[in-house]
Amino acid sequence: MGIVRLLIIGVVVWLAFKLLKRLTKSPSISKNSMQNSPPKKMVQCQQCGLHVPIDEALSKESDYFCCSEHRDEAS
Ligand SMILES: [Zn+2]
Repeated sequence: MGIVRLLIIGVVVWLAFKLLKRLTKSPSISKNSMQNSPPKKMVQCQQCGLHVPIDEALSKESDYFCCSEHRDEAS
């Protein structure tokens, strides 16, 4: 009888520990996923004023443009 009771208590404690670990772990996961998507740097087209992400913009010297047409027009 004593051993069965001890076993049940052990399982309950183990389950509670597992649940607590999961509860304390989940906020850090959501924090990490937020850090994985930093805001993109936006630049303005010198010809039409359109804002485009820096990795999609075309640059000429120190100026940025939304498309090759506007880059050629600016010269
Ligand atoms: Zn433009």
